[in-house]
Amino acid sequence: MNEFTKTLCPYCGVGCGLEVSAPAQHGKATNRDSDGTPTWRVRGDKSHPSSQGMVCVKGATIGESINKNRLHYPMFRESLHQDFRRISWDEAFDIITQRIQTLRLHEETDSICMYGSGQFQTEDYYIAQKLLKGCLGTNNFDANSRLCMSSAVSGYIQSFGADGPPCCYDDLELTDCAFLIGTNTAECHPIVFNRLAKYHKKNRHVKMVVVDPRRTPTAEVADLHLAIRPGTDIDLFNGIAYLLMKWNYIDTAFMDDCTSNFPAYAEVIRHYSPDVVARQCGISIQDLETAAKYWGKAKSVLSMWSMGVNQSSEGTAKVRTIINLHLMTGQIGKPGAGPFSLTGQPNAMGGREAGGLSHLLPGYRLIKNDQHRAEVEDFWGVERGKISPVPGLTAWDMITGLESDHVKLLWIAATNPAVSMPDLERTKKALLKSPFTIYQDAYYPTETAAYAHLLLPAAQWGEKTGIMTNSERRVTLCQSFHQPPREAKVDWEIFAEVGRRLGFADKFAFNNSAEVYAEFVQLTRQRPCDMSGLSHEFLAAQGPTHWPYSQGSSSETKRLYTNLRFHTSDGRAKFGAFYSQGLAEPPDPDYPFVLTTGRLYGHWHTQTRTGRIDKIRQMHPEPFMEIHPRDAAKLNIIDHQLVEVRSRRGLGKFPAKITKAISPGTVFVPMHWGALWADNAEANALTHPQSCPDSLQPELKACAVQLIPINVE
Ligand code: SF4
Repeated sequence: MNEFTKTLCPYCGVGCGLEVSAPAQHGKATNRDSDGTPTWRVRGDKSHPSSQGMVCVKGATIGESINKNRLHYPMFRESLHQDFRRISWDEAFDIITQRIQTLRLHEETDSICMYGSGQFQTEDYYIAQKLLKGCLGTNNFDANSRLCMSSAVSGYIQSFGADGPPCCYDDLELTDCAFLIGTNTAECHPIVFNRLAKYHKKNRHVKMVVVDPRRTPTAEVADLHLAIRPGTDIDLFNGIAYLLMKWNYIDTAFMDDCTSNFPAYAEVIRHYSPDVVARQCGISIQDLETAAKYWGKAKSVLSMWSMGVNQSSEGTAKVRTIINLHLMTGQIGKPGAGPFSLTGQPNAMGGREAGGLSHLLPGYRLIKNDQHRAEVEDFWGVERGKISPVPGLTAWDMITGLESDHVKLLWIAATNPAVSMPDLERTKKALLKSPFTIYQDAYYPTETAAYAHLLLPAAQWGEKTGIMTNSERRVTLCQSFHQPPREAKVDWEIFAEVGRRLGFADKFAFNNSAEVYAEFVQLTRQRPCDMSGLSHEFLAAQGPTHWPYSQGSSSETKRLYTNLRFHTSDGRAKFGAFYSQGLAEPPDPDYPFVLTTGRLYGHWHTQTRTGRIDKIRQMHPEPFMEIHPRDAAKLNIIDHQLVEVRSRRGLGKFPAKITKAISPGTVFVPMHWGALWADNAEANALTHPQSCPDSLQPELKACAVQLIPINVE
């Protein structure tokens, strides 16, 4: 191979281009980790248009994680009380197919579930959909993206008639005003933030507004930080809308020509006068007015958000309320403007394209749509009616399905729900009850592996060639640069082999991932996410490319809706009219604080990779709980003192970090620490599973807690 192979960072949805070279090629200059093991050398890919050669600490150190703590062989045990024993792949496939066939024979196909991941490449996602939804006839495929961005998906669909962020990263350097809402971009999407922050610093007319209950590193550089009370986002945006109306900053021509449902929205926002909103959000009227002026006066406005908006029991309504502001001011379909959700996982976007949630089908189709099901059934060559019209179980439904004995086979791949699910004690009890759990992952041990009957070693990221799409709809071919270790296999090849052994050989006759992708893109033809002009060969030659890119295209599409026509039946974007509902579990006298959870710069999700990288462990050695000095004084808590944090569901113990960065009445705990890395420090032991009724995304961002300082004698 060339000295460096081009690929994509496998962490966040920014999707930075990487160049990777093998350790042996650098002789004495070989990079080594702390125990002297040679590590893969990684550098930013200057030719990748999304990241322009930049990487953050996660991308820069990814080489160290490649060979550590890998799962090398299939392992099996009859019950969770037994030790695992090594088995062959042949035995593993026999066990899986026998279990599935028995359930099918007993007409219990709907008790089979797969819980996948935004770490999948698009080919992995696609083959899993074909196996579960097309061949077995159950829609029970969901992904960890359900916990991350499903509210953005439902918000876009309801407002525009189709999913898909309309903007691109070039807009970061073209906007007059950037609103960052519920996103600690500086730590969680660092390269997006670098691009925006550099531009903001050089262009003093450009305004940056951050909406977050914490004064994060993102908020530090903003022109205006709105530290709203958790759960008051809709109040804030309806309040900004009120002022935009009052001051006549609205684009009447755009609204007349391109939108619908404004009267219903106008009826709602008239209740959000500045005094009401300022009181509700806990901010000053002056700050509210400044935010509205920044928005109203700017030639172009970009709004970006991530989990602070999406992980909410009113997540879809929040997303639509943000989009409403763009619709009333005509801030969409032009450079530097538009609503722009940032995805968490590296290929959560690819999952959306491939139908990788329990209510979706490939090509941005919906399970509930008769025509969409028929199109996919015909394409896959399965009988009409094979795909059920009922959406499958979501991630949390799978947990409650275990509790009720409905779920009989749970197949988890490339994700770690024993840390990332809400209400962890309940989640773990349900996992203990599972009659049969398959856990397919690159790493061992993980917290979830402890609940598995069958472990399948998966190839990861640089060990397979496939496609990932980043937050700006840019599609990148990720070339493999080394062989999977020992007996690890590529995810889609595992799913395809199970399909062949179940009698669907003709549906899974692929020789390589390029053939899988070639089939998948045919299903996107003439859909909003048309990628029929893309292939592995094309992307290898042309480099990363934005979709839509239909067959015969000669140029990529950076922005959606530039023609101001939307995918709704009347071609108009639809205003959503929502009153704020607030938190599903507000604080009360028994549980007087709001806990908010989040992420740190170095760690990634549940530390499956980053917990094994020395530099990152040194950067973030332990979990903690941020508390405002006023609250700490009231409870006689001193810095570093251990505090027991209790919710109605569980507890955790965290050293206090007293800081004015967090608002009074709110505490913050990072979500990265599971049972493998610390005792009693799981943020999700505290969180609850109440979800947005539209997106079914749980409110992982906030719950009510009480604080009990622990006095060491
Ligand atoms: Fe990887 Fe995200 Fe960091 Fe880029 S910003 S290097 S994609 S973790």
